[in-house]
Formats: sequence, C-alpha cells, structure tokens
Amino acid sequence: MATYDLVVIGAGIAGLTCAREARRLGAKVAIIERHSFGGDITNELVPTAVYSHASHLLGLVKSSGPLGVAAEETGLDLQRLHARAIEATAIIGYRLSAEKAERLGVDVYWGEASFLSADELRVDGDVLPAGEFVIATGSEPEAPSIKGLKESGYLTYPGILRLESIPRSIGVIGAGPFGLEFAQFLSRFGTEVTVFEQGDHILPDEDAELADFLEDTMAEQGISFYTGAKVTRVERVAEGCEVTVDMDGAEEKEVVQEVLVASGRRPATGGLNLRAASVAATPEGIVVDDELRTTMGNVWACGDVTGKRAWASVAAYQGRIAALNALAGAHRTANYEAIPMVIRTEPEIGRVGLTEEQAEAMLSSAAVSYSYFTDNDMAIITDQMIGFVKLIADAERSQLVGAHVIGPAASEIISELAFAIKCKSPLTELADLVHCYPSAGECIHQAAEDLVRQVEGS
Ligand SMILES: Cc1cc2nc3c(=O)[nH]c(=O)nc-3n(C[C@H](O)[C@H](O)[C@H](O)COP(=O)(O)OP(=O)(O)OC[C@H]3O[C@@H](n4cnc5c(N)ncnc54)[C@H](O)[C@@H]3O)c2cc1C
Repeated sequence: MATYDLVVIGAGIAGLTCAREARRLGAKVAIIERHSFGGDITNELVPTAVYSHASHLLGLVKSSGPLGVAAEETGLDLQRLHARAIEATAIIGYRLSAEKAERLGVDVYWGEASFLSADELRVDGDVLPAGEFVIATGSEPEAPSIKGLKESGYLTYPGILRLESIPRSIGVIGAGPFGLEFAQFLSRFGTEVTVFEQGDHILPDEDAELADFLEDTMAEQGISFYTGAKVTRVERVAEGCEVTVDMDGAEEKEVVQEVLVASGRRPATGGLNLRAASVAATPEGIVVDDELRTTMGNVWACGDVTGKRAWASVAAYQGRIAALNALAGAHRTANYEAIPMVIRTEPEIGRVGLTEEQAEAMLSSAAVSYSYFTDNDMAIITDQMIGFVKLIADAERSQLVGAHVIGPAASEIISELAFAIKCKSPLTELADLVHCYPSAGECIHQAAEDLVRQVEGS
C-alpha cells in the first residue's frame, strides 16, 4: 500500500478543496468517502437553493401586478421542480465527483475511515499510512430531545426535498438560516407554516435588528412565529401532530400536519477513533488552533467538523488553508472576519464581519449607518423596496468591521463589503467607489458616505 503525503477524510467541499490544493502543491494524496462525494453541497444545499429560487420566482410573479404583468394564475409543479433540483445537483455534482478528483490525480477510497494511530488509517480492508491527515467529515443533524418527537415521526431537510406533495401545514422547530429557508419556500408553495424558536429572536447568531426585520416581513408574508418558545412535547393526534411549547412558563399548543426539525447539528466524528490519533474533540467540534492543526501535530481539520461556522464558504476556505499548512508549512491562520454568508430567504440576507452587538462589545467606539432600498432607484424601478443596508465601522480606525444587507441582491453586493473588510480599506475609499446606475449596490455608497460623515465629521 502506498504511503501518502496527505490523506483527507470526507469528500465534502472542505475535503475536496483541501485535496485539490494538495495536488496543486504536487503532493501524493488520497481521499476517503463513506457515502457520496459533494457531501452537504449535493445532498442538501443545491436542491434547497433550487426550491428557494422557485419560491422567489412565485413570489415575484404574484407581486408583479404593479408592473403590469398579468399573472392571476400561478402554480407549482412539484415533480418538475424536483427534476430540476436533481438536474442542477448532477451538473454541480460533477465538479465535486470522485471521477473529477481522480482526474486531478487524487486516489479515491470508499468506506468509513478510522484511525489506527496518528500515522495510519483503516478504510474497510485497506490500511493507509500518511505523513499528514486532514479530517473533513462535516456535521450531521441531531434531533433535540423533545418528549414524543421520535415516536410522532418528523421530517428533515432531505425528507422535505423528496416529498411528492406539499403538506397542508407544518411546524418548523428552529429558526436558523436553513429552517427559515424551508419555512419560506413551503409557505410560498401553499403550506401553512408555524416556526418555533427558543431564542428571543429568529436567527440567534445574526444582527438582532435584521433578524427582527426579517421576522416581521415573513410574518406579513403569512408565516407564524413563536419566539422565546421551547418545544416541550410533540404528540401524534388525528389531524397530525400536536406541538406543545413553553413560553416563559405559559403552555401553548399548536396542531400541524407535519413537523420539520431544523435545529441542531453535531460534528460527524463517530467511528473515526480519534483517541488512537490523540485528536481532541468537544461536542462542538474537533479542537483546532488558528492554523487548523488539531491536538496531534500531523492531523488537521477543516469544514463543519471544526464547529466554527457551518457554511460552505467557510469550509472551502478552511480546506485550502489546511492543505497549505499541512504540506507547505505556510502557517496561514484562518480569519473569519471577511467571509461573507447568505441567508436565502426573501428578502435575502448577506452578512460579513461583526454584528452591532459584537462590535459594541469588542470596540471602544463603533459607528453604525443605514441606507434603505426605498431610496434606491433600482429598487424603485423593480418594485423591490423592502430592506436596508447596515454598515458598522471601527470609528477609531475609520474601517469597516461589519456589513449586513437585507433586500434585493444581498448575496451579490455583500462581496464588495467583504473585500473592503479584507483589505482594511479606509471608509473614504468605500464611499468613493462608483457603482453602476441604477443598481442595488448604490445603497452601499450612501451608507458608506454617512459613516465617513460620522467618523471624520466631514
Ligand atoms: C439545507 C442546507 C442548506 C445550506 N445552504 C447553504 C448555503 O446556501 N450557503 C452556504 O455557504 N452553506 C450552506 N449550507 C451549509 C453547507 O452545506 C456546509 O457548511 C458545507 O457543505 C459543509 O462542508 P463539509 O465539507 O465541512 O462537510 P460535508 O459536506 O458534510 O462533507 C463531509 C463528508 O464526509 C463524509 N464522512 C463523514 N465521516 C466519514 C468517515 N468516517 N469516513 C469517510 N467519510 C466520512 C460524509 O459522508 C460527507 O460526504 C447548507 C446546509 C444545509 C443542511
């Protein structure tokens, strides 16, 4: 059996990016996958994004009356949508496939990887010795321990994406980014949706102001929310499932046809036998330092399994760093402050850097500015005026530290703000940047000018 420079465990976006970078560096590389190449990207992200896009189109068509578009009859052909999701997944999946990896010179092993020591792994009958290892095994759903939930039966994300008909009503447990994405497309497809969130507001990790705005907007779209609501019991009844919530001591009940569990993921470390390699892990993820090195010098980790931030953008970024550090001694440190993320609701959210709450806790002087899509000519032209841009600066350094966009094209225009944070651009340069006219991005110019006025008093 060959001795490898690097063996990567897990062929999701983190592991594949790592393996690709390792090959670029000229290393002898193997990758091990137990289920399917592409991981969550092909199994969940891409089909979900296709469903979301279809629901946005439905929303657009239904609201296009003011533009003179007569579309009284709208509907959904779920079978065609499902077929398109499979098609899009196949196209994107090819780039993440075992075949593509092999073409790049990566040896592919199928099976469950398990450490024998810090120098050897077992995969089925094979033992793979290597100088360096990268753990990129991702995360897996973890159902919360709620009385009666297991017995009542519940849906998960892949379960929803395989449904042959849309449920009449659904209770979504958890108001994180993906739970809300599912809540919204189901609502647009005709399901009556109720979301239960135990935190004080939806999207507990996001800027509270944007989370509140999104909750209000989605409520206006017809979705019901219970926040500060801990689901304590789920019980099968004749009409579906009775969901009991504890709201600060008061008990409330809601009957829904189906329940979607959209809360809780755990790092996928089961079966890896980490102890044999002296790699430490907590319930949040594998312990890594800033260079993504685990507690064993020649073992690295990247992606969801590190428990940092469960986004594909982060996983790919970490995958590259792990390869560079493991094989080229690059000593790159993972810095998450300039990595943009999208929440694919409508209005969409794009976010990079600190929330206002984090900036206030971390900086001696933070400045905040806004601009609204009601003042943006492109938004007026397209009749998509819901939302705003919120910029947060370190006033002492006159630099952007956080940017949040809720509204049209948020996931696109957030990238220039990520660039400004990454390059530590002076606020004046951000305010001077010229945008196309008309475009949603002009909102950035207005908010940045306001920040300059606040910080520099000009
Ligand atoms: C519904 C949904 C929508 C999402 N939408 C977005 C989005 O719009 N934008 C975004 O940035 N992120 C999104 N994400 C998050 C994103 O998909 C993940 O953060 C990212 O794909 C994680 O990549 P990964 O490589 O770390 O892990 P994974 O993709 O989970 O890959 C890990 C791989 O390791 C394999 N594996 C595990 N254990 C072993 C073992 N012992 N031996 C061999 N193989 C093993 C698994 O089978 C899997 O293929 C979404 C996630 C979900 C669930």
